[in-house]
Amino acid sequence: MNTLDDRTSQLADNLASVNARIRRAADAADRADVPALIVVTKFHPAADVTLLRGLGVADVGENRDQEAAAKAAAVADPALRWHFIGQLQGNKAKSVVQYAHSVHSVDRASLVAALGRAVAVQQDRDGRAPLECFIQVDLSQSGRSGGERGAGPRGRGGAAPSDVPALADAVADTPGLSLAGVMAVAPLGVDPAAAFALLARVSAAVVAQHPGAAAISAGMSQDLEQAIAAGATHLRVGSDILGPRPAVR
Ligand SMILES: *Cc1c(COP(=O)(O)O)cnc(C)c1O
Repeated sequence: MNTLDDRTSQLADNLASVNARIRRAADAADRADVPALIVVTKFHPAADVTLLRGLGVADVGENRDQEAAAKAAAVADPALRWHFIGQLQGNKAKSVVQYAHSVHSVDRASLVAALGRAVAVQQDRDGRAPLECFIQVDLSQSGRSGGERGAGPRGRGGAAPSDVPALADAVADTPGLSLAGVMAVAPLGVDPAAAFALLARVSAAVVAQHPGAAAISAGMSQDLEQAIAAGATHLRVGSDILGPRPAVR
């Protein structure tokens, strides 16, 4: 039987073990700070978000606008922060800025412009806070040595590392947007530690130009320890807390 109480205790147990992993990894890396946990609720119902809220979760992540907008409306809790972590089309910017605290997947100049326009409209409407933006970095080059160029694993979205500084400048120069830092997903088939080491170097280049933009969003269920060792400040964890995602939506 799968009662509400069963689901609540399952979520509570999973949350406790992920938080324990995070603390152990932060200790092992000699970090005084504990990274922020964003619970990725994609594919799971709004009812789960409400249960997580009751367990003290303040940050949730979603990767599709339609699903996120519906859940944000259903949960309707102004203290809950919604983080948009999926690939984003410019024509969805108007919708996303109605509920999102941050966008972790800013990967091109046209999206920066679209988000800037959408936030300006929304700020006129309801005075919303600046939208926190993370530049998503494509780490698919991190596992390659010279000769294998083009033969490496496929990337999972994001801007090339060399394009990140200009995108960071564009975000910083856009009213209504606040540059938080960088984000990445470790590519399949690559050692996550090597990928996150590249992300740390990209982050350092951004921070050199924008000292306030030190956030690093990295680390999922499978690789949060490696991300914490490489300096992640925001973790995005889904399946180890909510369970496997349904195969078909
Ligand atoms: C789904 C997703 C996550 C969470 O992944 P899990 O393996 O379920 O922890 C993190 N980041 C992004 C960008 C995602 O799409």
